[in-house]
Amino acid sequence: MARPHAVVVPYPGSGHINPALQLSKLLHRHGVFITFVVTEHNLRRAWAAVEGAAGGREGFRIEAIPDGMLDADRDAQDYDISLSKATVNHGAAPLRELVARLRDRSAPGVPPVTCVLPTTLMSFALDVARELGVPSMVLAALGAAPLMAEMRLRELKERGYLPLKDESCLTNGYLEKTIIDWIPGMPPISLGDVSSFVRTTDPDDFGLWFNITEANNCTKAGSLIINTFDALEADVLAALRAEYPRIYTVGQLGTMLRLGEEASDDDSIDLSLWKHDTECLAWLDEQEPGSVVYANFGSLTVLTAAQLAEFAWGLAATGHPFLLVVREDLVHGGGELPPEFLAETAERRRVVTWCPQEPVLRHRAVGCFLTHCGWNSMLESIAAGVPMVCWPVFADQYTNRKYACELWGVGLRLDEEVRREQVAGRVREAMGSEEMRKSAAGWKAEAEAAARPGGSSHENLLGLVKALKEGSL
Ligand code: UDP
Repeated sequence: MARPHAVVVPYPGSGHINPALQLSKLLHRHGVFITFVVTEHNLRRAWAAVEGAAGGREGFRIEAIPDGMLDADRDAQDYDISLSKATVNHGAAPLRELVARLRDRSAPGVPPVTCVLPTTLMSFALDVARELGVPSMVLAALGAAPLMAEMRLRELKERGYLPLKDESCLTNGYLEKTIIDWIPGMPPISLGDVSSFVRTTDPDDFGLWFNITEANNCTKAGSLIINTFDALEADVLAALRAEYPRIYTVGQLGTMLRLGEEASDDDSIDLSLWKHDTECLAWLDEQEPGSVVYANFGSLTVLTAAQLAEFAWGLAATGHPFLLVVREDLVHGGGELPPEFLAETAERRRVVTWCPQEPVLRHRAVGCFLTHCGWNSMLESIAAGVPMVCWPVFADQYTNRKYACELWGVGLRLDEEVRREQVAGRVREAMGSEEMRKSAAGWKAEAEAAARPGGSSHENLLGLVKALKEGSL
């Protein structure tokens, strides 16, 4: 039987590249040949930041295609929208050329392509696969619940909830008071928590259109892979599986890599778009167990300078040591932390521009995570047993917060308007809550059980590899 060869095509942001790379490493450990496709822009960034990022490894290659984006748009405030538009409009042609080349004229030692595996938001890759007669699977870069919620955006439009009637709906409590109680497998959820893309009065809003299209296009793939584990999202997974039977839950991917029994030398394959500060781990070593607050807003969130200052002063007021990640582009136009804040907290803080988040969350010193509720961040926190203080901003992050706070018992809410007193209060509460610590430890144990041989994610990974080997996607 020929060796299976998956062309993995993540959407060009960290929230997709990271889980796609983790899944690729797992598949590679099980004998699948991987071609990992990144954009030329991201490869230049990663190449500069991480030595040997594209380092050759038997059966694991990295290829780059253009993202079609104008350099002027890279600094735009709505960067993510520009990136999505460029990717949709310009991604198909170079990918088609690449997949056709790998299918027809593979280099020596490179088996013919047997599967195209994009992440969500990249459904043009599924069309390319179909045109070229190559089977496909898709990796959801979000959980089962937020995926199910986004799949229902179309029905919300058909039932007249969307677009919103007028601007007042954004501020008069309509989003919170309007309860949607008919999404399969999900508890009643406020309209505002379904997705950030409901916040529009424009019938042609790009974000809404794009997410409706992409969420539903997942089903064009032969199978759907989700970075979650069965115990965490049992109800909604049962409902999703009733609609799409070929679902492989293989998360939490980081735990799968860490606990997997397969030998590997893949640690040095790293495509981080920012340079990690690794010294923060040594700083954490010096702190008391469970004493540190870790604050990070992910790879895309943009804050105002005032919001950053409120978060910073809120952290200072907790009295705890803290690790604060301020990405270079976290505040549009540049945001310096207030000098008095830096002076006052010098003894008990570390501020870095990017950190190795999974090892940080797993460090015994970390007691709580102040997060923007990106799916990867939340799942990494759950798998590490760390309670969260939740401040969602965008996309699926509102649904994620609802689950963390109301269903999983591991999160506390912050108001949209950031106030230092509330930040300090909620962080202290999360740090001191025995109940949340217990829930978080319980989920960590579930995540590890799922990842061990015999566990649901481990079994599903084996099933996925078998399907790839047999060509039965
Ligand atoms: N991440 C990291 N270091 C940082 C910030 C983020 O390694 O300083 C990683 C994090 O572990 C996660 C990803 O970047 O895997 C962010 O994805 P997420 O879905 O949480 O949020 P997004 O960036 O897509 O908003």
